[in-house]
Amino acid sequence: MYTGCQKRKSDRRAGQTVVFLLMALTVLVFIFLWNVDLHRIVSAKSLSQNAGDAAALAAARWQGASLNLVGELNLMHALALSAQDSAAVDAITNMQARLCFTGPLTALVAAQVAAKNNRIYARDEFTQRLREHADDVASYDEIVGDNMLFPEPYPGAWSAYSAMLSAIAADGIAAAPDNARFFSDSSGNHILRDPAFYDAVAGRNWCWFFLHHSTSQNPPRTILNDFTNYTWWPPLPPPNPPTFENAEIFGLDLVSHTVELGRMIDSDVLATGAAQQQIDFSGYVETNVMPVVETWYFFHPSCWSSWDIMHPDGPEGFPIAGSVKPEYDYTGADAVIRLYAAAARLTPPASSSGTPHDDILWTAAAKPFGYLESDDGDGMRLRPDAYGIVLPAFRDVRLIPMDAASGSDGGSFDIPWRRHIDEHLPTYVDSGVLDQECRYCRLIGTFEDAAFRQQGIDWLLVNSGLCTLPPPGGGGGGGGGTRRGH
Ligand SMILES: [Zn+2]
Repeated sequence: MYTGCQKRKSDRRAGQTVVFLLMALTVLVFIFLWNVDLHRIVSAKSLSQNAGDAAALAAARWQGASLNLVGELNLMHALALSAQDSAAVDAITNMQARLCFTGPLTALVAAQVAAKNNRIYARDEFTQRLREHADDVASYDEIVGDNMLFPEPYPGAWSAYSAMLSAIAADGIAAAPDNARFFSDSSGNHILRDPAFYDAVAGRNWCWFFLHHSTSQNPPRTILNDFTNYTWWPPLPPPNPPTFENAEIFGLDLVSHTVELGRMIDSDVLATGAAQQQIDFSGYVETNVMPVVETWYFFHPSCWSSWDIMHPDGPEGFPIAGSVKPEYDYTGADAVIRLYAAAARLTPPASSSGTPHDDILWTAAAKPFGYLESDDGDGMRLRPDAYGIVLPAFRDVRLIPMDAASGSDGGSFDIPWRRHIDEHLPTYVDSGVLDQECRYCRLIGTFEDAAFRQQGIDWLLVNSGLCTLPPPGGGGGGGGGTRRGH
């Protein structure tokens, strides 16, 4: 008499089982698909890593080759002088000026080839940015007042340089030169140009404000207390181009000096290089009227300096094992690459607006290295810039840590960031208007909210003692962190 009931019960059980099995099956299918995705993401990650590293190394290799060529030409210049061939001297100086642009742009081409050989494809927003920049460069030679907008390092430089950029953009940019610094970019420190500010607002990292932007420690007083409205920010830094002798992309960080030959020989600068190549100046010096003024290429001393950041006891407490060998201990001329690998997804993306693939960002940096042999015959290795003048010395390229690489205010080809600091910030400090489509602008909006800042003020009143800079060499921690990661 209970059969019906039992039957119904077992029916219901069977139904539950089917539902359970269906759910389990669904979950299994998802796990399977997710695994496939995971596999794709992992393989895209390693793909992007290989491509990014290869692109950075390729670019650095061409930087090194270009530096060596400029160095060889310095020596040829000396030879031409001793042969009293002034036409050759002029041609050599002109060639050096051109190499400072064509060398780095060859590096840009080499980076694209390396990335594409590793199956990374051109990315429209990168190509677009370079194309737009080529158009900007075309107007560098516009006459403003009595002068060109930017002085040309050699006649016709800007139109030739612009044409080279266009030609490279036409092939599509897969590996973006992330440490590019365009002449018209403003540069200089400003809190609104510091990516860490936005991280601190987004993460409510009140310690960051206490450690980096406080006016008083006890009681704690920071910009959270002081800020009033958009008119409160200091003015944005104006464009401050370094020199016009180096390409904006993968620049060699060189500088030309026009000096008397006599002084060059006296200062041993040229003599040392010449002696290494068995060039004899004596004939020239004896037969000619001094002083002869000539143009030579030197390492820019503010770019080619000791690598403080790479020392364990340096200001950044870089976590590195052991000390940096003297012959590797210099900054200057490096290549930073930004690229994305797309990993196609089978499972739906986490956000509803998501694209059907995940973009995996990879950044890599590399630098040419080399050394000069000391001419004392003691086998001592000297930095390539030991004599100031450029001599052929580069024999190697190495990947370098991103944080030890040169950067451009947080990534020249981080497109949303560039749009924010180049386009939105000037409008904002002028009129207070923020772009609501822009994540960084929305974070400024958050900071402008008095209730948000009050939260931080209250927290710091009680907890500012917890805010400490990370111990040297420790990495991580509240206040510091990396400039930008992968
Ligand atoms: Zn913005």
